[in-house]
Amino acid sequence: MTKSGPQHDLSGRCRVCNAQISAFMSFGRMPIANGFLNEEEIANEYFFELAPAFCEQCSMFQLITQPQPEKMFHGQYAFYSSSSRYMQMHFEAFANKVITEILAGGSDPFVVELGSNDGIMLRHFHPRGIRHLGVEPSVNVAEVARSRGIQTTSAFFNRKLTEEIVGEYGRADVILAANVMCHIPDLPGVAAGAQHLLASNGILIFEEPYLGDMIGKTSYDQIYDEHVFIFSATSIARAFAPYDLELVDVAPQITHGGSMRYTLARKGSRQATARVAKQLAQERAQGLDDAKTYLGFRQNCENSRARLMQMLNDLNEQGKRVVGYGATSKSTTVTNYCGITPQLVEFISDTTPIKQGKLSPGAHIPVRPYGEFIRAYPDYALLFAWNHAAEIREKEQAFVAAGGQWIVYVPDVRVIS
Ligand SMILES: [Zn+2]
Repeated sequence: MTKSGPQHDLSGRCRVCNAQISAFMSFGRMPIANGFLNEEEIANEYFFELAPAFCEQCSMFQLITQPQPEKMFHGQYAFYSSSSRYMQMHFEAFANKVITEILAGGSDPFVVELGSNDGIMLRHFHPRGIRHLGVEPSVNVAEVARSRGIQTTSAFFNRKLTEEIVGEYGRADVILAANVMCHIPDLPGVAAGAQHLLASNGILIFEEPYLGDMIGKTSYDQIYDEHVFIFSATSIARAFAPYDLELVDVAPQITHGGSMRYTLARKGSRQATARVAKQLAQERAQGLDDAKTYLGFRQNCENSRARLMQMLNDLNEQGKRVVGYGATSKSTTVTNYCGITPQLVEFISDTTPIKQGKLSPGAHIPVRPYGEFIRAYPDYALLFAWNHAAEIREKEQAFVAAGGQWIVYVPDVRVIS
């Protein structure tokens, strides 16, 4: 068994169809992706084995085991969507599309959003007087949304909650979610809730990191504790079919390094666009429904790791300074799977105050304020926030002008300036 094979027999049941599944690889012992910590917390740092599986019966890509939610979303967890300007613009466009195209002509429509966070999306519905309800399990984050006038309930979305919502507000014309569905282990529970909540001609529309991009680009850093699933059109169509919800449209998005927006409706209520059949055919051609594809992905991950470590070790021997750029959740998978140490990457620059002064999960690379990066530019910056490469390279022209170079690892390990 190679180093990337599961350390022990990692098998279980598919969360969607209950078929027997087994991990096709392991990324090894992994901490909580967002578990930035202090020196004195190292002794009690929590680890689990990060191992993905592909269900041959329903094509769902999923983690074989996931840490308990309280390990992932502890007191300090506070990710406010609105802190990213780029994401603000993206959600404004998403909201406007829903408002103009879908709600046009409807009388007194009602919109429900799952994982509505601090209201980054619903704040565009609120000023137009559109009836809305955000469902946000995180109490602190929901409070921020409510303080902005956005109707929000702190709860988990499931069949029982939807009965309460229907009783109080009636059925929903639109159910929205963004980067939320892939976090919810009980996907069948969400589907059952959506089936109950949706008006007869309503739509369920959500966007999530896309499996086809991840496999195509070997962007294995999409795989971490919070992402219990990585979806494809194939797996989404199959997961919702038992609840009489049909995939009627798909639209690729560039967010998060490649996402897909899925639109579902009650069976027979809407005509599916030609894009759906095209996407399903493309996924068959890419082999997303074939177990062999995932063995190829595993090999690509191992190759990517070997090339990145070769490069970092070479630079270290040459006495070059390498600094990480962006202490992202995704970077935790990369640093721990590859074995990147503070000897190889001096620190990780990040603009998020709560992470500064802490150590990265597992690898224990110091996280320092952005000012440290510009104060004395390193020779190389390892771009952990690769999904924002265009925005970042635009911003950091002075780094390159000073002779700095970027190391990227998606889709290939290479140096760019
Ligand atoms: Zn399955």
